[in-house]
Amino acid sequence: MKNICILGSTGSIGVSSLEVISGLGDRFRPVCLTANRNVDLLAEQVRVHRPAAVAILDASAAADFRNRMNGSVEVLDGPSGLLEIVKREDVDMVIGSMVGFSGLAPTLEAVKLGKNVALANKESLVVAGELMTGLASERGAKIVPIDSEHSAILQCLAGEDPATVERLILTASGGPFLDRDAGGFGKVTVGEALRHPTWKMGKKITIDSATLMNKGLEVIEARWLFGLDPDRIGVLVHPQSIVHSMVEFVDGSVKAQLGVPDMKVPIQYALTWPDRTPSRWERLDFSKLNGMTFLPPDTEKFRCLPLAYGALRAGGTAPVVLNAANEVSVGLFLAGRLTFDRIPDLIADALDRFPAQAAGELETIIDADRRTRSYLEKYN
Ligand code: MG
Repeated sequence: MKNICILGSTGSIGVSSLEVISGLGDRFRPVCLTANRNVDLLAEQVRVHRPAAVAILDASAAADFRNRMNGSVEVLDGPSGLLEIVKREDVDMVIGSMVGFSGLAPTLEAVKLGKNVALANKESLVVAGELMTGLASERGAKIVPIDSEHSAILQCLAGEDPATVERLILTASGGPFLDRDAGGFGKVTVGEALRHPTWKMGKKITIDSATLMNKGLEVIEARWLFGLDPDRIGVLVHPQSIVHSMVEFVDGSVKAQLGVPDMKVPIQYALTWPDRTPSRWERLDFSKLNGMTFLPPDTEKFRCLPLAYGALRAGGTAPVVLNAANEVSVGLFLAGRLTFDRIPDLIADALDRFPAQAAGELETIIDADRRTRSYLEKYN
C-alpha cells in the first residue's frame, strides 16, 4: 500500500482524487490532506477517509478546525504546515493539486525528498520547471502529470523511443468564447466565463480556459515534462474534448489518446503509472459522437496564448512574471474589477516591465513573483 498526501484535497482535483483512491481498494491510503480554508468539506473528508494529519493554509481556519476536531486528527497550519506534512515519513507519494503559485513550495519539497508527485498544479512547473525537473532527476523523484493533455502524451509515448518524437499536439476545447467576436470581450460576464462547454473544473482554471492562457501554461508545462523546445509543441482547438492530445513521430505516424472528458481517468493513470488498472468510470461511445472537429487557435483573438509562447522562449523568470500577472488578472476579473478583454493587457504590461533573468534558484522565482504582484497593484 502507498501512503498519499493530497495537497489541496478540497479542490476539484482533490475531491476526484479521493474518489479514484477509494475505487482502487487497498492500493493507496490518503494519509494526509490539506486545504486552503474549506474546513467544512475537509471535516467531511477526515470523517470518511481517516487521514493521520491535515494541514490548513489559512491560520484562523486551522484554529477553528482544531477546536472542532478535538484532537481526533493532527492539524498543521500555514505555509510551514504544508511543508511539514509533505516531509512526514509516512508520506510515500504526493498529489499536487493546489491552485497557482502557492503550490510551488510544498511540491518542490516533495521532489527534493525524492517522493513521486502526481502533478495537477501546472503553475509550479510553469514557474520553476528547470529547478523542479533538475531536482527530480537528481533525487530520483518522478513527476507524473495529471493534466489530461500531458497524461494523453505520456500514454502516447509509452513504449516509444523519445528520440523518434517529431512534435506534440496539445488539444484545447477553445473555451466558451470560441465563436464570440473579440469585440465583445469587454462585456463578458464572470458567469459566462465560468460556463465551460466540456470540463467541470475550479474557477481559476475555467477562466484560464476561456482566455486560452490554460493552453499557454500547458505548452510551458509540456516543455518541462517532455523536454521539447516550443517550436515542436503545437496547439489545436478541438471543441468536443474527446482527443486529449497527440504525438507525431518522425515517420509521420500520429498517436492520439481519446476518452470522455473526466479527470478521474488521468488521475488514476498518474497514480498507477506505468500500470493501467480497471475503473468503473463512464466509457466513450463512438456511435453517439456527433463528429470531431479540429481548427488552429486564433492567436489574435486569444492573445494570452502567444504571450505564453513568448515567455517560454524568453526563458528564465519570464514564465514566473507571466503566471503571476495572470493570477492577479484572473483574481481581478473574478472580483468584477477588470474586464475580460484587459487580462492580456496586464500580462503584457508586466512582461514588458520585467525582462527575463536566470531562474535557477527558488529565491529568484519567489522574488520575480512578488515584484510582479506588487507592480500590478496599480490596477487594483
Ligand atoms: Mg489540461
